[in-house]
Amino acid sequence: MSTPDYQRILDAIREELRPVLAQGEVADYIPRLASVPRGKFGMAVVTLDGQLYRTGDADEPFSIQSISKVYTLTLALQAVGERLWERVGREPSGSAFNSLVQLEVEHGVPRNPFINAGALVVADVVLGSQADARAELLAAVRGCAANPAVRDDPEVAASEKAHGYRNAALANFIRSFDNLAQPIDTVLDFYFYQCSLAMSCVDLARSFLFLANQGRCPWSGKALLSPELTKRINALMLTCGTYDAAGDFAYHVGMPAKSGVGGGIVAVIPGKLAIAVWSPALNAKGNSLAGSLALERFTSLTGLSIF
Ligand code: GLU
Repeated sequence: MSTPDYQRILDAIREELRPVLAQGEVADYIPRLASVPRGKFGMAVVTLDGQLYRTGDADEPFSIQSISKVYTLTLALQAVGERLWERVGREPSGSAFNSLVQLEVEHGVPRNPFINAGALVVADVVLGSQADARAELLAAVRGCAANPAVRDDPEVAASEKAHGYRNAALANFIRSFDNLAQPIDTVLDFYFYQCSLAMSCVDLARSFLFLANQGRCPWSGKALLSPELTKRINALMLTCGTYDAAGDFAYHVGMPAKSGVGGGIVAVIPGKLAIAVWSPALNAKGNSLAGSLALERFTSLTGLSIF
């Protein structure tokens, strides 16, 4: 199969989706996210041979939110390997990303690492294995993105903390089952910090390329994860990476992906490429509305998907 004309396809998708940008709801649980203009739209594709294609606002940093859960999962798997699964499950939840309900039934073992409960346990593992977890996370993300300018947004982290009642409830609930080792505030602060990282579509696509490359960072040549563990992260992204819409997303898009309430979605096609899209208005399931449609169009127009 000949290489698709990625640039033409990205530009065409952006044009096609322009009317959709008026639909959906921008996340408004913190003022910093509520003030992001809904007309923003960016997309970036990075191929394994290092080619970069972009369109629209692809270089503008935005709040990556839950996409950060993929980076912390990577650090946790580096630290403890498959032992992680003694403390976190691997099944889609079928409930909201911040649900408390299943935790009670499952005795404090969150269903998967991408719901908030699971991400809090993963954060606890990272904190337990690093002297300075924030510095380690930031260095890892900068390295994967090949961009030393990636940074956190302290205003977002502070707002997350000020409004973080549900996450605090989750952390306390998990602690009641002895599934958190670090102090609850330490875990929450680290979780709010990871959610506050600001990155562009270009950063995100570059930073996920190791997941399309059997765990090896194409920029440094360093193996971040074994091919086996890389396969596991991709499987989890496919089954649990897009909130409670992962089945529908796999059906329409056909790529392992992780989304965030900031309107970003990053996806990979192993052996080929990573792609990131950003459009702040969300659909009812909390995934970027135009972003989900853009990825669906991308797989349709290129004929590429994992299936
Ligand atoms: N930071 C928010 C929270 O933990 C949202 C994360 C997300 O789903 O993108 O509630």
